[in-house]
Formats: sequence, C-alpha cells, structure tokens
Amino acid sequence: PFVPREDPLFVERTEGAYLYLKDGSKILDAAAGCILVSIGHGRKEVVEVIAKATQTNSFVLPLWLTPEREALVNELQQHWLPPHLTRSHFTSSGSEANEAAVKIAVQYHVARGTPSKHIILTRSLSYHGATRATGGWSGHPARKKGLEQVLLKNPMIETPYPLRCPLGPYHPDAEDYYIDSLQRTIDEVGADNIAALLAEPLCGASGGAIAPPGNYWSRVQAILKANDILLISDEVMTGFGRLGTKMGCDFFDMTPDLLVGGKGLSSGYAAINGVFGTDAIADALKQGGFEPMYFTHSAMPMACAAATKVLEILRRESLVERAKTVGAQLKQRLIDEFADHPHVAEVRGEGMLLALEIVKDKATLRPFDIEQRITEKMFEAGFRHGVFFYPGGTGEVRDIIMIGAPFIIGDVEIDLMVKALKACLTEVLGNL
Ligand code: PLP
Repeated sequence: PFVPREDPLFVERTEGAYLYLKDGSKILDAAAGCILVSIGHGRKEVVEVIAKATQTNSFVLPLWLTPEREALVNELQQHWLPPHLTRSHFTSSGSEANEAAVKIAVQYHVARGTPSKHIILTRSLSYHGATRATGGWSGHPARKKGLEQVLLKNPMIETPYPLRCPLGPYHPDAEDYYIDSLQRTIDEVGADNIAALLAEPLCGASGGAIAPPGNYWSRVQAILKANDILLISDEVMTGFGRLGTKMGCDFFDMTPDLLVGGKGLSSGYAAINGVFGTDAIADALKQGGFEPMYFTHSAMPMACAAATKVLEILRRESLVERAKTVGAQLKQRLIDEFADHPHVAEVRGEGMLLALEIVKDKATLRPFDIEQRITEKMFEAGFRHGVFFYPGGTGEVRDIIMIGAPFIIGDVEIDLMVKALKACLTEVLGNL
C-alpha cells in the first residue's frame, strides 16, 4: 500500500458470506466487500465462465461485439433494465461510469443546440467516485480531504435526510423543504445552464442508507422535466437487487434518463459497470457526431461473461426477492433489538442496504465527538465478534454502521449480526 497500515488484514480466502483470515478466524462479510457481493463469494459457475471467456476472447476492442458482450446486453434488456433504457455503454469502475454518464448528458445538450446546459447538480450527501470529477461531485468531505483545491466544484442541493431535516426530525413539511432546495438551486444557477442532476435513489454509504420522503422522486422528476434537465440515477450501490427490487429506480418509481450501475452487476467477480440510456439520448449523440469514448478495459469479455452468469444466478435462485424478504426480517430484528437503545438514533434502509445511526444524545441528535472514533471502534469490535460491518457516514454525518450483506444470508447470519452488534455497542459505548 502507498501508506501502509500497521496491521493490515490478511484475507486468505472467501466463500459464501464469509471471509477466512490468515490467523484462522472466520468473519461474516456483512459489508459484502464494499456493499457489492450479492450471490456470495467463490461460486464455481462464475469462475468457469470467466476462464472460458478468457480463453475464447482474452481481449477484444470495446467497440466490437463478442458472444459474451451480446449475451450480457440481452440479459440486461430482457430481465433487468427498465424498458425505456435501451442503450448500454460499459466501463470498469463506477467512477468511470458516472463520468461517462455526465459526458453523455453534456453531449446530448450540445447536440440538441443547447450547449449552455453543461452544469451538473449533485447532492450534499453523496458518493459518486474517486476521480477529480466524481470526487468533486460527491458530497463526501471525508473522501475529499487534502484535495479540496483540485476537485471539480458544482452546485449541490440538499440530500433529503428526514431524521435530520432542519425543520425538525420527520417534519411533515420535510418533502417540501427538500424540493425547495432543488427549485431554489435551479433558479439561482439558471435552468439554461444545467445539464443534469446526478443522484443516488437512496443515499448510500455517505449518509448510510437514507431514503427520501414519500413523493420526493416524482416531484423532483417533474421539476427536472419542466426545465429540460436530465436525471442520472447513480445505482452503483442500489442497482441489481440491493434494495429488493431489480433496480433502485424500480423501488422509487423513477424514470431516469441515464442509469449508472455496477457493483452488483458482477457481484465483485469482475470490474464492470454500465451506463444505460434512452434512444432519444443516443439518437441525439449520433446526430451530433458524438460517441462516448471507451476505456481500454471496458466490457472485457471475461467481465461480461461473469456479469451475465451472476445475473442468471440472481434470477435462478430468486435472490432479489430474497434480498427483500431477508432484508425485511433483518431490519425488523434490528428495530426490535436496537431502536430503543439510548444511543441509536435510527435504524433505517431498504432491502439489503441497512444502517444504524449512533449518537451521543438521542434527544438532540448530537453525535459523539469525532476524536472518539466511534465508527472505527465499532468496526474493530465487529471483527472481534466475527462480523465485518461497513463504516458509513462522512464529516458531520458520522457514526453510521452499515449492513449490506450478500443476499444469500439466513437465520444463522442474522443472529450472528444482532449478537455482534449488541456486544459492540456495549463494548464501545459502555466504556465512555
Ligand atoms: N457511486 C456510488 C453510489 C458508489 O457507492 C460508488 C462506490 O462505492 C461509486 C459510485 C464509485 O464506484 P467505483 O469505486 O467502482 O469507482
């Protein structure tokens, strides 16, 4: 590592929902890596198609077709993508995919004769990637440290956060408040200057599984449409079953113009993300003489084969439905066990993307001081109790423990997580 850690974790192998460490311990991967493993680790079927595709087509220019690419596009169109998203463009990482989506949105407006529409709106709590552009678009101060001068800057609207709405927790006017934030920003920046809103349907790791109030997305979409602003749904975390629906946009009944998806697309078996868009956008680009530039390793045949097999397994084993039902069971257990805990402000999330927010004072929602390193200590205690919980939150929004487990977990794992969380809360908070 560039900056080595004192005691780096050594994972010798992974299988199912577990990590096996060099010291002989077995850890439940409740974080599913970084909230991406859906079908579980070590599936032979996936390994076999990767080997076969590597043998058949080790590398082929991303512009050309191969059987693996054709099969993936067919699988996506027939079974996964909303029918209006007919076009695909693949990248390796989610950061690249978000950049590509934004570039497509900008070229779309240029092609239609509205080149002033080039500014991207994003949200105050968000994560879109680690490059200078996507890092800048992200509302994630912790991941911007030391880079503030060079990251791209853009106008941000407030991410809906019902628990911490400035009007008061769960305020009945929270939805209006957050919609005003969008409308005000459009008025300030000028609709003629805005290309797109880039947003996660449900705020992922930056805020920790925060869902917007009821009609938020339908009202946002109406405003965007009226102002000729595209909606780019960043579903790198929420796509491919994580929320218990095929895509996050299905959960919230959204109709994005562009959808970006990745992590769960290959369940971590290969580096592949995609940008999916409409005929209208693709046709405009064609007329403008534009084409999204590929990255060298985009749509590697082995990655396409891995993704196709992962998606087939998700369907064959009804794992999206499982993410919904097991996720709901787990959420209920977390509510039963922890909702009344004096330091748990909220148990939240959907499907297999859940979180607990820990605070010092439940009445005022005041967090623990940053120096107390609560999230880090919870993460460390989790390992001692056999579970890898994902550390969420950023900046002022901190101490969020996330669970984004593989969809294959069952009762044994739910018990293990609940027991471990109980022990972690006692150990970390009991000593303060
Ligand atoms: N968008 C979201 C919502 C993410 O959660 C992530 C990664 O965690 C990214 C984009 C960036 O993806 P990558 O790390 O593959 O570049």
